[in-house]
Amino acid sequence: MSLSREIYNELAAIVGSAHISDKPHILAGNRAKTPDYPMEYKSAEAIVRPGSVEELQAIVKLCNKYGIIFAPMVSGVMPTAFASRPNTIIIQLSRMNRIVEINEEDRYVVIEPGVRHVQLYPELRKRGFSYTAASVGPGGSVLANFTSTSGDHHTQHGNSRANRYLLGVEMILPDGEIIRTGSLQTGSGWFCPDGPGPGLRGIVKGYNGNHAQFGIITRIAIAIDPCKGPAEPEMSGISPHHTVRMNTPCSKVIIYKFKDIDHLRDAMIKTGEAEIGSTVIKYFYLPATLMMTDSANDFWKMWTDEHKAELTMPLIVHLATRSEEEMKYEETILHDIAAELGGVRIKREYEEWWENHMDFFMIVSRLQSVLRLGGGWAPIKLASDSVAHICEVGKNINNFIHDFTDTGKIFDAPEDYQIIPMEYGHFAHIELLIMWDRTDPNVMKGVGEFRAASRQTDIDNHFHAEMPVFLSPGSMQIGPLYSNFHIWLKQLKEAFDPNNVANPMM
Ligand SMILES: Cc1cc2nc3c(=O)[nH]c(=O)nc-3n(C[C@H](O)[C@H](O)[C@H](O)COP(=O)(O)OP(=O)(O)OC[C@H]3O[C@@H](n4cnc5c(N)ncnc54)[C@H](O)[C@@H]3O)c2cc1C
Repeated sequence: MSLSREIYNELAAIVGSAHISDKPHILAGNRAKTPDYPMEYKSAEAIVRPGSVEELQAIVKLCNKYGIIFAPMVSGVMPTAFASRPNTIIIQLSRMNRIVEINEEDRYVVIEPGVRHVQLYPELRKRGFSYTAASVGPGGSVLANFTSTSGDHHTQHGNSRANRYLLGVEMILPDGEIIRTGSLQTGSGWFCPDGPGPGLRGIVKGYNGNHAQFGIITRIAIAIDPCKGPAEPEMSGISPHHTVRMNTPCSKVIIYKFKDIDHLRDAMIKTGEAEIGSTVIKYFYLPATLMMTDSANDFWKMWTDEHKAELTMPLIVHLATRSEEEMKYEETILHDIAAELGGVRIKREYEEWWENHMDFFMIVSRLQSVLRLGGGWAPIKLASDSVAHICEVGKNINNFIHDFTDTGKIFDAPEDYQIIPMEYGHFAHIELLIMWDRTDPNVMKGVGEFRAASRQTDIDNHFHAEMPVFLSPGSMQIGPLYSNFHIWLKQLKEAFDPNNVANPMM
């Protein structure tokens, strides 16, 4: 079904004819860009680009009036930002890209949805502040990351993930009503996410974000942190052949490898207890190798047994301190922990790679090289629990992954999971990254079987390894592991969105 001319004209009257299109080539360029994902490959009926909250509200009301589904989008990195069924319009929010306020005294910023990491991060960094920038890359929407998608990142050992930093929120509910949460609703400013009255943080974001199933968020405040290290890192070369260094004795990367995940887990917990390290992470060796090489040929040259052994069980630690004395203190503790647990320092050239690519710890422009092999890929599991529980989940991967890596159904990298502790080890996040040959027409069957085996293992072992996110078939399956989360979410969705127009995925 395509939109009637009357409805199209009504939308055009809201945003202006320059900011709406239903031209076939525009719609074709805005289909989900991940055809290897098991979702249908649909075009939206039109794309609209509102420039203000008022225009956005009018669009949402119109969608309710005519039963049109809407999916908001900024960069469109997630498949959920696209049309997944007929009768859908995409609301492209890139015109709403103002940094509304930077409050250095109370340490928060207020932003609109179209503000990207590349826009906000340098503004804050040069003022001596930082925030929990996700590893998605510079083009991702900061707001989408803090409110609507996951929000994990590499440096959360020394701070936390995005949902912990969300303050006041302004949001358009699926029926068009505008709400303001926390201190904002009483006119007291943006500083507090809750009260008076019941908190709405679970509706806005929960743990992993609702991907617009509860409406469109128009402005948020996020808390910012003072950053350690120089305001401007040293950059040379041209991307992707560039280096970004912190030229200061107060920044150092130290990597120890451990015999197994049990020893690595204990080291992780001890760094948290001692409250040292800005980043502490067991990083996955497949993306690490992709980042360290410039072509597929270079990748295969580097992907040797010796290299894999070096990076199979590494604890990557970035020490960032305020003084050289503090650096000496943190280093001493780290070396003591490693000595106690049999850690072996890996080759210095690997540590140097990280020190030459400090953007890995900041806005992660390097990470995009991970997609270079050109195959299919997916991050799975993605949940958080205690460090010990999450390491148990990691250890268990070995019990079922070999049926798939040994038979070529997925890339042969059985240890390819990362674990990132948060808040000095109070909990930890896991991500298992799988890759496959998407030119093989039979490959998706094997990938599907692997995903099913992974989920079934979690259900059988009562692992909190995969976080239920928005309403989706996956959440229905694992909801019982999370206090029947799926049933509550479904009831809330019916109450908030009776016309089922806000990005329904079920
Ligand atoms: C290589 C790679 C690495 C990644 N790494 C990370 C990571 O480390 N951590 C992490 O958290 N995520 C990561 N992601 C996931 C994701 O890309 C990010 O979460 C990011 O925020 C998406 O930004 P975007 O502008 O592309 O959002 P989009 O794809 O445009 O939107 C994402 C979702 O949010 C919804 N949405 C967008 N704007 C709004 C709004 N204003 N109100 C309500 N809903 C809205 C969309 O409908 C969609 O469902 C990664 C993705 C890739 C491809």
